[in-house]
Amino acid sequence: MMCIFCQIVNKEIPSYCIYEDEQVMAFLDISQVTKGHTLIIPKKHVESLLDCDDETLAHMSKVAKMLANRITERTQAKGMNILSNIHEIAGQSVPHFHIHLIPRYQNDDAIQITFNKSQPQDFDQLVNLLK
Ligand code: 5GP
Ligand code: ZN
Repeated sequence: MMCIFCQIVNKEIPSYCIYEDEQVMAFLDISQVTKGHTLIIPKKHVESLLDCDDETLAHMSKVAKMLANRITERTQAKGMNILSNIHEIAGQSVPHFHIHLIPRYQNDDAIQITFNKSQPQDFDQLVNLLK
């Protein structure tokens, strides 16, 4: 399969890798939304977080926390957005699961997460659907 992140795992294309172990790899996003913007991926190809096995996902979470702390310390970032886009409609452009670590700095104007509008819902029906 022609997957750009699998090619990075296989070192067929270069990356600025900042962490690697048997299960995961973390490298600088080619498009640095802010200084230190990093992607963490499982080495095994899965399309998104929803397809990732629990053990790998738990390990990804630990690595995300460890690297978020490391990046924060070394860049003096004031905060961090940790996010994963799932499927094209949610903004996923590379169909190989990845977690973004996006350090945030004073007045960086990098990302604005706003909830545009609130939709009226039947909360009783919704809780029955979802619980
Ligand atoms: P998504 O939009 O799927 O949540 O994020 C994909 C990210 O992968 C984007 O931020 C994009 O800049 C990054 N990206 C795409 N191709 C490459 C590449 O070849 N190398 C690196 N390091 N990052 C890439
Ligand atoms: Zn892949």
